[in-house]
Amino acid sequence: MSKQIQKEKPANMEREFAVEVVKKLVEKGHTAFFAGGCVRDELLGLVPFDFDVASSASPDQVRIIFPRSLPVGVAFGVVDVLGPKVAGRTIHVQVSTFRSDGAYINGRHPESVHFGSAEEDAQRRDFTINGLYCDPINLQIIDYVGGRKDLDQRILRAIGNATDRFREDRLRLLRAARMAARFTLDVDQNTEDAIRENAPGITLVSPERIADELRRMLGHPSRAQALSLLCRWNLFQTIFPSFSIPNEETFASVTRLQPHATFVSVIALLLPNVNEAKQIGIGLRLSNSEVRDIVWLVSNLDLVGKANRLPNHQLFPILDHPLCEILLDLEKARFPNGAEGVGLNWCLSLLKNPPVGGFSPPPFVNGSQLIQIGLKPGPAFSFVLEEVRNAQLDGLVTQPHEALKMATSIYKRLT
Ligand code: ATP
Ligand code: MG
Repeated sequence: MSKQIQKEKPANMEREFAVEVVKKLVEKGHTAFFAGGCVRDELLGLVPFDFDVASSASPDQVRIIFPRSLPVGVAFGVVDVLGPKVAGRTIHVQVSTFRSDGAYINGRHPESVHFGSAEEDAQRRDFTINGLYCDPINLQIIDYVGGRKDLDQRILRAIGNATDRFREDRLRLLRAARMAARFTLDVDQNTEDAIRENAPGITLVSPERIADELRRMLGHPSRAQALSLLCRWNLFQTIFPSFSIPNEETFASVTRLQPHATFVSVIALLLPNVNEAKQIGIGLRLSNSEVRDIVWLVSNLDLVGKANRLPNHQLFPILDHPLCEILLDLEKARFPNGAEGVGLNWCLSLLKNPPVGGFSPPPFVNGSQLIQIGLKPGPAFSFVLEEVRNAQLDGLVTQPHEALKMATSIYKRLT
């Protein structure tokens, strides 16, 4: 039964399709292997997120063998081969031609690439654990870079000359933190020295790519370890110059976040103040919704601790907000059993037993009703509406006619 369920999993379907792709390439006389991350993941007993195939076939040859394919990076020799549709999603496998990279420019991209051998293709990859091939037909691992041993010993090691490799492409600095944290690897000394040496150059990487790496490493349960490496290598300080380096307490909070917590939650924990959210948003080209969420979380975080002392009109909108659950997780992570627990428990019990009309009941009075009874739209108008709404949420008025009466009397006082 469970085997059957496993079989239905898209990852397995993806693997089957990737094996088919390899078989077809081999039938046509080419060399083809699974390459990189998927080999590493399978050796670690993990289900790969996607399967990449590396082959001696040129992109043109790949496109002829697989007419249902898209050129995604022809300059780099990458073709996306499309497979069957499973659960509404098209299975696909990226086939890249064995290549070696020319000189790197801008601290990020090779100036040119030329097609080469499987060994050259392994050598251009970043870390030994990412430089492995697997022949899925004969079930063999092909290792030109010593990745197998490093994987067994849980070591992250740059392929070739570490300093050169990080100088070529500074994104590898962040990939190093992400990989070491995610797979609980020790970082080889030489590799670590080269990372520290090249850390200031992280600014050469585009903000979008930096943000993307951060989303991935801080969105993973190993986020505290990743954060610790970023700090240790001075990458955190370079990327977030206005943040204080997280102290032990902050690290403990990050560790206590829910496993599925996102980058947004971690930034909300680390942010020095709300104003800084906008700066970070601009600097890292975060999406408007990410910045909005960070701002909301940071501005409401301190209110949760004193929720039991807040009037309903302040508390209910928080409890009604789509990010409320995340906010409460942050509070739990910050103060696992401190005095602030009173506020948190207050929120949790209200969420469990919400008031009869919910946290956002239909308002007793609205603007057009106020106009009907003769109030004139103007500066006092919205104030009146808000006051009456607050009184409704606070239970100070319990009927629409009371609310209307209150509105009239506040309005008269103001005008
Ligand atoms: P994951 O997809 O789980 O994040 P991955 O190792 O598969 O990890 P990808 O970005 O999918 O990472 O890249 C696939 C492979 O391409 C890597 O395993 C590595 O061999 C190679 N690679 C990716 N990025 C770089 C880089 N910046 N420099 C050198 N090689 C790289
Ligand atoms: Mg991958």
